[in-house]
Amino acid sequence: MSEKPEKLACEQAIKMILEYLDNELTEHDHVAMNGHFETCRSCFSRMEFEKMLKDKISALPAKKAPDSLRNKIKKVTGKF
Ligand SMILES: [Zn+2]
Repeated sequence: MSEKPEKLACEQAIKMILEYLDNELTEHDHVAMNGHFETCRSCFSRMEFEKMLKDKISALPAKKAPDSLRNKIKKVTGKF
């Protein structure tokens, strides 16, 4: 029963993805997240997806995202 207490559950990791991408986590949490992404494919893809979105959104001028993109987002985020 003495598993590493620092091991993140996916639920926790997903909650911290945005802060991770914004570099708002403590160093400890950031490292824990990196470790989780190395072993967890689904959280890694989720993080990549959020990162891609962030880049897209910050690259967009102040007009709204095309419907196709919005539907895609809905589809993916609905899965979690
Ligand atoms: Zn995970």
